[in-house]
Amino acid sequence: MMREVLKCDAEGCDHIEPVEAVTSDLVGKPCPKCGASLLTQEDWDAWAPIRDLLLELEKAADGVADTEDQIDVSIGYHDGEASIKFKPVTTG
Ligand SMILES: [Zn+2]
Repeated sequence: MMREVLKCDAEGCDHIEPVEAVTSDLVGKPCPKCGASLLTQEDWDAWAPIRDLLLELEKAADGVADTEDQIDVSIGYHDGEASIKFKPVTTG
């Protein structure tokens, strides 16, 4: 399953906030460390279509892939460029 995180983009701050799902409700959520917005409207606009795609992929993989496997998906958006990082999570 997909585990989503929000990463603070502020210079010198590397706070990572695990969330259940990145939704539009989180737009403007402040970083607990530095107060910067973890998810700006631009982040969300860039992320939303990608997220839809990922959810489709996840659905397609349902029953095929081992659902115990988790993937960290982190989204960053900086200077008009979105970056997405996938990191497999080893549990247990
Ligand atoms: Zn921060």
